[in-house]
Amino acid sequence: MRLLFINPVVYVRQAHRARGAAIIAAPIVAMAAFGAILAGAFPVSAAHDAALGMALFACLGAIIGPFTGGNEVEWTRHLETLVRTERDRLLAILNTMEEGVAIIGPDYKIRFMNPSMVREFGEGVGSYCYKHLHGFDEPCDEMCKLPEVIRGSTERSEYDFPDGRIYDVVSSPFADSDRVPSMLSTFRNITRQKQVELELVKLNQLKSELLSNVSHELRSPLTSIKGIISSLLQEDIGWDNESRKMLLIGMSEETDRLASLVTNLLSMSKLDAGVWGPERERCSIPEIVTETLERQRWVSKNHTFETEFAPDLPEVFADSNQIKQVLVNLLENAAAYSEEGTRIVVKAKRMNNEVEVTVSDQGVGIPPQELEKIFDKFYRGTQKRRRPGGTGLGLAICKAIVLAHGGRIWAESENGRGSTFYFTLPLVQS
Ligand code: ADP
Repeated sequence: MRLLFINPVVYVRQAHRARGAAIIAAPIVAMAAFGAILAGAFPVSAAHDAALGMALFACLGAIIGPFTGGNEVEWTRHLETLVRTERDRLLAILNTMEEGVAIIGPDYKIRFMNPSMVREFGEGVGSYCYKHLHGFDEPCDEMCKLPEVIRGSTERSEYDFPDGRIYDVVSSPFADSDRVPSMLSTFRNITRQKQVELELVKLNQLKSELLSNVSHELRSPLTSIKGIISSLLQEDIGWDNESRKMLLIGMSEETDRLASLVTNLLSMSKLDAGVWGPERERCSIPEIVTETLERQRWVSKNHTFETEFAPDLPEVFADSNQIKQVLVNLLENAAAYSEEGTRIVVKAKRMNNEVEVTVSDQGVGIPPQELEKIFDKFYRGTQKRRRPGGTGLGLAICKAIVLAHGGRIWAESENGRGSTFYFTLPLVQS
């Protein structure tokens, strides 16, 4: 062990030297003082004084000598036990520490690594720190704090490694057991903490994006509706029936857009608060799909909607209102990301103990690298919507609802040729 403060031999030797000097000096001084007092107490000549003093020294020396010698051995043993206990305690701390500890010499060579450091970076005692830790061929002036630390300052820095790990490193000056001025560094792995911080920053960004998105999404249909109402109210314009109908249809579409946005926002906050658990009952998927399509055919008049249900499709155990919302979101997306005049097909079939529902479109498709992320809250892909709107909440809501039913949801897509969204629901237990 290189650490001076946990090396009992060195420590005891130092202590023993100091103690030895005191042990030898103390009786001599005490005896000299005692002799002088005694000599002064008797009315005798100077020669007699000297002789008497010498005799007294001899007697006292004979008494104290063996006594002090025995005490010294005991003292040394006691010190050794003390230091050994301290050393064992410090070793246990170093060995169990979660932080990595390393001592690096002025020649950049690693002199010591605790087990945690070895676990994180591999055994490297004797190697150059820049090579072993960073894979550099020479010290990196920008990153390395060794010269400053050897000169006496304590430095704190963050090391980013190419594999993504991030460490908070505190380096302080340290005299190694051979008295070579070195650097003692502790390495704390803060990768997870940094990830959480980054995620929080990202989430905050997404939230403010959502806020501005939602404000925009709320304002634009309201502006359209207000515009249409103002036009209809203009008394000097004589609207014919056809024009009036067109304006009213436009108003109805904008209201639908508004309603869908508000529904999604409400659903998301209820799901987040955990107060929107499914109220399950026996229900028929063809019925739910047919009802949902009635509304959707009206909203997306220029798409063709088709259905294909397997014969004898069993009932599912689900909350029909929530499943309708899943279908509305999938159908709205299918229409928003595909050209007018294309087909949107809803199918349902039994797969083991579940019913699998699919919604397919012939739209822009989804790039493969986005397929995993599209179900994340606030995630918005790179594809352009054919119609305005979108907050990145629709698919996150679908996922939360389907998972709450014990089902699964996923998507398959061919870029530029369309997408198919799948979700499953458990059958009614017989
Ligand atoms: P948004 O409000 O942006 O539509 P969603 O959560 O509904 O949010 O969808 C997330 C992302 O998934 C969209 O931004 C889009 O990139 C992609 N997406 C969803 N449905 C489709 C689809 N049918 N075709 C192509 N891309 C889609």
